[in-house]
Amino acid sequence: MPSQFEDLLSKLEKSAELANLDPDEIEILKNPDKIIEVSIPVRLDEGTLKIFQGFRVQHNNARGPYKGGIRFHPGVTLDEIKTLALEMSLKTAVVDVPFGGGKGGIIVDPKKLSEQELERLTRAFTRVIANDIGPEIDVPAPDVNTNPKIMAWMAAEYARVVGKNVPAVVTGKPVEIGGSEGRVEATGKGGYFVLKQALAKLKLPGELTVAVQGFGNVGAEIAKELFDSGFKIVAVSDSKGGVYSETGLDIDKVVESKKNSGELVEKNFEGQKISNEELLELSVDVLIPAALENQITKDNAAKIQAKVILEMANSPTTSEADTILHKEGIQVIPDILANAGGVTVSFFEWYQNLFGEVWTKEEVFEKLEEKMAQAFSEVFELAAELKSTLREGALSLAVRKVTQAQKQQHHW
Ligand code: NAD
Repeated sequence: MPSQFEDLLSKLEKSAELANLDPDEIEILKNPDKIIEVSIPVRLDEGTLKIFQGFRVQHNNARGPYKGGIRFHPGVTLDEIKTLALEMSLKTAVVDVPFGGGKGGIIVDPKKLSEQELERLTRAFTRVIANDIGPEIDVPAPDVNTNPKIMAWMAAEYARVVGKNVPAVVTGKPVEIGGSEGRVEATGKGGYFVLKQALAKLKLPGELTVAVQGFGNVGAEIAKELFDSGFKIVAVSDSKGGVYSETGLDIDKVVESKKNSGELVEKNFEGQKISNEELLELSVDVLIPAALENQITKDNAAKIQAKVILEMANSPTTSEADTILHKEGIQVIPDILANAGGVTVSFFEWYQNLFGEVWTKEEVFEKLEEKMAQAFSEVFELAAELKSTLREGALSLAVRKVTQAQKQQHHW
């Protein structure tokens, strides 16, 4: 099986060929600008010292400072972070925000650390990468298992290192210290705006059914958004498994239950428990993978019954699966378009920090909808022109924008 990075490169090469792009420029994109690998010593509460391994990959900054989240997960690998960093370079181009692409991660299971240990780890990581980040250099943000609180620790530690308060060094901060209104909802909301555009084109009728895999920041937010807009959410899941109800779940109650007990449903729930694998294969109109990568592969792609897949997670579909889904006539709305709402509002946050502005939630969502609708229509039109899938359209659009920016600058 190809590595995740190789898998994305093969999708990229196919699209570059379709759009007739310069092979030299593609060669640059295949290699990250810089890979930072660090050891992070942390004193655990019981007194022992543990060394964690962390990465920051700065993929490409032709269109602006490197930009991308930081992931805390035991399964983090350099290959994964390289893939996600490349995806960020493409994503920022699709939604046309003035950033390049980067990504970071630490190999850690944060659930096994106390809050104090997590804070020491975050601050130590920030210190070791402090010279490589900054508002005009590289701007981290939250990703899997990182959140506004962790961004606040990063901003505070960076301020200590450089001796001044620099809120624009990270995005996804709490609102009290310069975070943007609407950042928490941004990725889910952005996905909803894109889905709305896509459904209008596909003309799917009636009350649509939806299954959402993953109930973290992204999954819960898009489930809430769709539930409030009248979609029937028949299944949701988290790392412990999923729940299904033919008549539809009350997402407000699921959110409440998850908050109170950590479980998706209360004990007296009348629907069925299902596995994450079963959730993916349900007969629904819209399937939303919003957990981790490589969920739809050649092994289960033929069993997918959804009409539309909205990729809210990064890289949830392998390229082999993509080919099968395309043959089955399933419309895939690709990650670099579907989940770009997060980085779009991150750009709004960075902008507000740099220019001392504070926008209301309504302003943020209005601007976000405009950006997402524009990106969808550019992708849709290019895909129609190239007679390609939406993924190939999005990749071609992104690569075209990044390579055009590269051409203006390099001197090799
Ligand atoms: P999160 O940590 O808040 O939530 C992850 C969710 O996935 C949790 O509910 C977890 O229980 C669940 N999960 C983990 N392993 C699973 C498994 N094997 N099967 C089913 N569920 C599982 O993370 P998030 O920020 O919501 O990110 C989710 C995805 O969206 C990731 O791929 C991330 O890269 C992507 N993404 C996030 C943002 C953002 O703004 N947070 C932006 C763009 C893309």
